[in-house]
Amino acid sequence: MALFRIYSFLAPFHILVLCQALRNYPDNEVTLLDSMSAPGDLGWEAYPPEGWEEISVMDERNIPMRTYQVCNVMEANQNNWLRTGLIQREGAQRVYVEIKFTLRDCNSLPGVPGTCKETFNVYYHESNNAVAAPLRHIRESQYVKIDTIAADESFTQTDVGDRVMKLNTEVRDISGLSKRGLYLAFQDLGACIALVSLRVFYKRCPLAVLNLARFPDTVTGGDSALVEVRGTCVEDAEELEAPRMFCSADGGWLVPIGRCVCRPGFEEVDGHCQPCRSGFYKASAMDAYCVKCPPHSYSHQDKASECVCERGFYRAELDPRSMACTRPPSAPGNPISMVNETAVTLEWSPPRESGGRGDVSYSVHCRKCSGEPGAAGDSEKCVPCGSGPHFNPRQFGLTHPRVLVTELQPHTNYTFSIEALNGVSDLSPSPRQLVSVNVTTSQTDKSQMSVILKERKGTDSVTLAWQGPEPSDGTVVEYEVTYYEKNQQDQNYTVLKTKSNSMTVDGLKPGTTYIFRIRARTDGGYGNYRGEIELETSHEDMLAVGDPNQQTILAISVAGGAVLLVLLVACFVVSGRRCGYIKAKQDPEEEKMQFQHGRVKLPETRTYIHPHTYEDPNQAVRDFAKEIEVSNIRIERVIGAGEFGEVCSGRLRLPSKREIQVAIKSLKAGYSEQQRRDFLSEASIMGQFDHPNIIRLEGVVTRCKPVMIVTEYMENGSLDSFLKKHDGQFTVIQLVGMMRGIAAGMQYLSEMNYVHRDLAARNILVNGNLVCKVSDFGLSRVLEDDPEAAYTTRGGKIPIRWTAPEAITYRKFTSASDVWSYGIVMWEVISYGERPYWEMSNQDVIKAIDEGYRLPAPMDCPVVLHQLMLDCWEKNRSDRPKFGQIVNTLDRLIRNPSSLKQLANTAVWEDPVTPEAGASTVEDWLDLIKMGQYKEHFSSAGYVTLDSVLYVSASELDKMGVALAGHQKKILSSIQCLQTQHGTQVQV
Ligand code: AMP
Repeated sequence: MALFRIYSFLAPFHILVLCQALRNYPDNEVTLLDSMSAPGDLGWEAYPPEGWEEISVMDERNIPMRTYQVCNVMEANQNNWLRTGLIQREGAQRVYVEIKFTLRDCNSLPGVPGTCKETFNVYYHESNNAVAAPLRHIRESQYVKIDTIAADESFTQTDVGDRVMKLNTEVRDISGLSKRGLYLAFQDLGACIALVSLRVFYKRCPLAVLNLARFPDTVTGGDSALVEVRGTCVEDAEELEAPRMFCSADGGWLVPIGRCVCRPGFEEVDGHCQPCRSGFYKASAMDAYCVKCPPHSYSHQDKASECVCERGFYRAELDPRSMACTRPPSAPGNPISMVNETAVTLEWSPPRESGGRGDVSYSVHCRKCSGEPGAAGDSEKCVPCGSGPHFNPRQFGLTHPRVLVTELQPHTNYTFSIEALNGVSDLSPSPRQLVSVNVTTSQTDKSQMSVILKERKGTDSVTLAWQGPEPSDGTVVEYEVTYYEKNQQDQNYTVLKTKSNSMTVDGLKPGTTYIFRIRARTDGGYGNYRGEIELETSHEDMLAVGDPNQQTILAISVAGGAVLLVLLVACFVVSGRRCGYIKAKQDPEEEKMQFQHGRVKLPETRTYIHPHTYEDPNQAVRDFAKEIEVSNIRIERVIGAGEFGEVCSGRLRLPSKREIQVAIKSLKAGYSEQQRRDFLSEASIMGQFDHPNIIRLEGVVTRCKPVMIVTEYMENGSLDSFLKKHDGQFTVIQLVGMMRGIAAGMQYLSEMNYVHRDLAARNILVNGNLVCKVSDFGLSRVLEDDPEAAYTTRGGKIPIRWTAPEAITYRKFTSASDVWSYGIVMWEVISYGERPYWEMSNQDVIKAIDEGYRLPAPMDCPVVLHQLMLDCWEKNRSDRPKFGQIVNTLDRLIRNPSSLKQLANTAVWEDPVTPEAGASTVEDWLDLIKMGQYKEHFSSAGYVTLDSVLYVSASELDKMGVALAGHQKKILSSIQCLQTQHGTQVQV
């Protein structure tokens, strides 16, 4: 028997083996057995004894290394078994077996019979026992065959002579394991093999920290299912939305959902929560960073969630924690009184020191003094006035430093004490500071007349009414009403006459204060002016709804001893601009705000405030965007071009914060004021949002040039180009994860009542973790910025392919039209950035949609996703799903990936567009299917006519160098279409 030995071949292994030995395995693989690192004998069992032999060879460091070899090629009927010891599976349900071996080419062995083999078999057997039955009793039926292994590379005598060793590596996986461990067995049926190494491992998703949540080391699932893992917030963080991720079968983490945020008193630094330093605080978990204590407050200790007020300063219950601590105001100054019989007008000047607040109000305390000595004997006896006097507009909580007190008793001494108050007066233990005025009333005039404002119509007309006791000197013939603009007395009087007790005065100027005076003419002539009223007409842009506490513009004084009966008619004004909650862009039908009893009722959730509701757009920027010192920004490189100028990446280092990478948009020189406003409007919109799927605003630079908007940096840029660049490279779950993120961002926007209008993959940005965020909030963007926007017949500029029909035809933009656009984005994602409706013209798209045509499912699109797209493209907008429903549907699909297995179709292209139809050469065809980068590959491989392409198979694409699975699929399915066109059906 000639027994070939291959020991001599092993010497050249040295180098190879060393390389292997030094190899670091990926950290998502956990090795259960590695024959190369076994310290002593492997102790595997071989049967029969003349079969597999354990041979030690030395690696480069002279460390013995175990191999098994068999080479009984000269004899037929070989059945040589080699079995490992029990390999504990450590809870893994799926393990991988990596075999490295060399195999001798039978033809290269002189004189071997035809029974020589070039394969061997690998089996496994699950067991709970560390001791297995002896191999000589092996029954194949107890073992499960993993595979018959053939060498990709066998070697010949020449190779041996040349000392060229051809090492093969094969990896197989075994899933569904449940027992304590498994035995692996190698069956040789007559080959010449050296088993150089065996490694058994399983995959896990290694411990990861993302969005402040820690995800533990997780063993991958048994089949291809994803394992959903709940993250736990890192120390000092709390859940904003339950953090979850999915561990995929190949050991990667997918689809991060939810996030933790640092609790109050802590801020995020490099994935940890760090306590705020003394002098800093963070009030809410939702705030990103610790910030400096506001004026007149301090925090001596770390972790402050609010700062404590300095001595003598206070914080009112509703004061934001970011507001400076304040103190009560000083006393009002310079009180003066104007007595008219039994009425007195008191006026004073505001306190010199407001205490740092804007909510100063005044209270007037009244005491009546009898003229008799008081209890102490030396001063008058004074008692509280009680309910007798009438204070106009009120006694307490006066916002202007003036009050009219009527219905006082004649010939009586009064003392009025006036105090200034603010929101923290009640918190201060110090005595209040008051100013006092003493007043003595006189006799009442019996011929009183009272004038009232009865009605205010529009902005230029008022109706007055008056009444009074009949004058003693005759019957009233008529009344004369005289009026003039206050402060213009010398120039213009207007005199009107009436017989009745009321009059409407027209032709007044809006927003102007007038003095009206009235006197009666009797048989005996004109009497004295008895009534006088001062009032201001409405401003042009004011709405006639009232909030008596907010905007009282009626200022009334009485002259000539009149007792004023002021009827506060509904004449109060709430300016739409001031209320700050008008959404200029939004649809009134969908408007959530309501006016109730003349007051703006705010919805419970936060609502987006359109910058146009601000009279001064700069104020909107100040309200919603933080000003950043330009010295804190370092610009590094240009990454894109925006409508208003370059977009750069760079670093932002705010005082006492860690440096972060940012994107910086700047406004190019030579801009108009309108352009500056439009540019900054994006910041005042973005600054109102706080959601992990909405691009975050870091701040703005407006105090020096160029004006800049600074946002978080998104490493992978815009979604459309990102997808095109990585065509075919993501799992469907990763794609669904991206869609889920976009839907969650849109859900947030729709809940804020913000309608995006230009939702498209080009306006989504992608960060390094594949998290997608909605961006592009500029006001002018739909009109100007978007190259996809085209003019419609009604004059507006609209990105037709992404826009719902009702928005195109009658500009009905709503969250439901955003849902339509979202369906198009889903289509863009699944087709890796394909252009919706391909090269169809905009007009054709509009027509096709109107006739009921909808985009077909892209290649490899799961049925459920295409159905969701079709739901988004329902003609009737109320039939489309809401963003919240879309998020729930996608969450369900991610949890149950088998629901994504059924694909909508296998052909990429459907009528009305079949790009292959237009192709006459291979180059054209590749260009049309966007695979033009492979023109060289095809021509070098000899495929020069379209007919020749019809027979290309996957393995030929491999050989040509078309390696990406997604590209192969795209090309092959297009070939199927070509075959249909040619009436050919070839198995590819
Ligand atoms: P935009 O003016 O917002 O359309 O931005 C123009 C281009 O600049 C985008 O298409 C992106 O490629 C890039 N870009 C804008 N913002 C960012 C960001 N936050 N991170 C990374 N790239 C960005």
